[in-house]
Amino acid sequence: MSFYDVLIVGAGHAGAQAAIQLRQMGFAGSVALLGDEQEPPYERPPLSKEYLAGDKPFERILIRPHAFWGERDVTLLLGQRVKRVDAEAKTVTVGDDSEIGYGKLIWATGGTPRLLTCAGSDASGIHSVRRRDDVDAIMTELASVNHVVVIGGGYIGLEAAAVLTKLGKSVTLLEALDRVLARVAGEELSRFYEAEHIAHGVDLRTKTMVDCIESTDGRATAVLLADGTRVAADMVIVGIGIIPETGPLIAAGASGGNGVDIDAFCRTSLPDVYAVGDCASHANGFASGAQIRLESVQNANDQAKVAVQHIMGQESAYDAVPWFWSNQYDLRLQTVGLSTGYDQTILRGDPATRSFSVLYLKAGKLIALDCVNMVKDYVQGRAYVISGALLDQAQLADASIPLKEVGLA
Ligand code: FAD
Repeated sequence: MSFYDVLIVGAGHAGAQAAIQLRQMGFAGSVALLGDEQEPPYERPPLSKEYLAGDKPFERILIRPHAFWGERDVTLLLGQRVKRVDAEAKTVTVGDDSEIGYGKLIWATGGTPRLLTCAGSDASGIHSVRRRDDVDAIMTELASVNHVVVIGGGYIGLEAAAVLTKLGKSVTLLEALDRVLARVAGEELSRFYEAEHIAHGVDLRTKTMVDCIESTDGRATAVLLADGTRVAADMVIVGIGIIPETGPLIAAGASGGNGVDIDAFCRTSLPDVYAVGDCASHANGFASGAQIRLESVQNANDQAKVAVQHIMGQESAYDAVPWFWSNQYDLRLQTVGLSTGYDQTILRGDPATRSFSVLYLKAGKLIALDCVNMVKDYVQGRAYVISGALLDQAQLADASIPLKEVGLA
């Protein structure tokens, strides 16, 4: 049985950062990074952006060049999936039933795309956008595809719609709720992005429920809607969220529900087992201490650092301010803070200029900003989100006053 002082399960953003951080901090023990994909760690955000557009080859989205891992003495165990964890014996079991022992285990397994469950959803031509394989399959089929139906108006669905439109495809986007980005942003931002997509030719339909998928010879040919409408499709892309990959850890006794529960140092309830990234449920100070999962590169990297620091004997609790970005057309959205629970929004600038910010306040405090082509607000607003300052609202709304010059209320 092989043994590693630190075994990292999941070779995505969080897993890669954990391995990098261990060596950066001078960890001298053995480190293995085990993942079920065939590729060394790569960046996921470009999958719905530059990689899908064909603007960046795969080699350019690798988190580190191939040689890096060997040079840092990090063993890559790729194409292997952990199916069982024995927290007492401190072993994991992989697909071929071989066991690997660990001193410390870092669980960094991300999530699996939620799939359609309606009739016909097993047809070919229906894709998620989570892994390189997914996007390669989409790109292989695209040449013979004219009409794409995207199901889900979250960031991934919208980004895919933007790229496909740019590639000359006709795109219909279906969203069940009454606006896109409803779970993550305020109405001003949703309406702005809806208008942008419509202006770029996307047939965007909100309050639209999917009934089933129609297929011919096993391949999807249309999406039937609950109201009886039929939308023809040569390809269907589904972006309706992820389910955290926590099965083996929960089966081993780790506490969790929507994700594995971790404390401020990313420890799970199992001894010597940490969890980081999309799969980890934590109490977040920027969400008033609510237990949440964050799905962002920032969180994956920051939690990986916190877990490694703890392994190295440095107790530094996770308190990073959440941030996120999304690229659609020529629009760069940068988000800082968490808008959950906001009771007021302030619009800075005019959306018609395609450069503006939406500020989210709760009991007068600035808790988050969505900045569209507005880097300055993003950079300057960050400090206020961290300090929780009560600011002069008239000045906040005046885009001619730089945020850093806004006075206190
Ligand atoms: P992942 O990067 O998903 O890595 C987990 C790895 O573990 C995967 O390789 C998975 O296959 C593997 N795995 C799972 N179970 C097992 C198992 N049992 N055994 C072995 N291996 C296993 N975030 C942003 O901040 N900005 C963006 O613009 C942005 N865009 C995105 C666009 C797309 C298309 C996607 C999919 C995500 C995007 N994200 C973005 C989110 C960001 O990529 C994720 O938050 C980040 O990848 C999380 O890192 P992670 O390491 O937790 O999970």
